[in-house]
Amino acid sequence: MQTVDYFVATALKNLRRQRQLSLAQCAALTGVSKAMLGQIERNESGPTVATLWKIADGLQVPFSWFIQPPPSDPTTPHQGTEGEGITVRSLLPYDADLAMDTLLITLAPGAMSHQSRHVVGAIEQVIVVSGQLVLSLEGTDYLLANGEAQRFAADCRHHYHNPLHVPVSFHSLIHYPRPVSG
Ligand code: MN
Repeated sequence: MQTVDYFVATALKNLRRQRQLSLAQCAALTGVSKAMLGQIERNESGPTVATLWKIADGLQVPFSWFIQPPPSDPTTPHQGTEGEGITVRSLLPYDADLAMDTLLITLAPGAMSHQSRHVVGAIEQVIVVSGQLVLSLEGTDYLLANGEAQRFAADCRHHYHNPLHVPVSFHSLIHYPRPVSG
């Protein structure tokens, strides 16, 4: 079975080739260093969730572009990507008609995501499945309990924080403006 890092490596190389971007151009677009991008492409270093988001946002592709699509057999556990106490899984394959990602994000107790800002026009809906989530939008914090949801313009700076001593899991449904693809 391919590892998620190998999948990321291939997806990044293909995208860069397709767009005829040098490593330096790709670094300028994403804010991820040339050295790190090279390591990811050579599968020498697995990117953290934060790095992967910077690459997806910078290259204006859905996050799920870089993670293994869910298997057709939903009982088989599938690859997510981990780092900094954050796991992201794609629950459904990227939907090109709806331009939508369906992600399940889990934060370990106390974990905080990086500040992210998606493609201009992106709209995100978070729905807390278990635990509690602090959603920070442009510096304002919103506490969402289990079962609560919020929709926001995801081209604004936002991050997530788990304030409790138990994990928090939430769905992140991201609607990208069209066209968004390589
Ligand atoms: Mn987001």
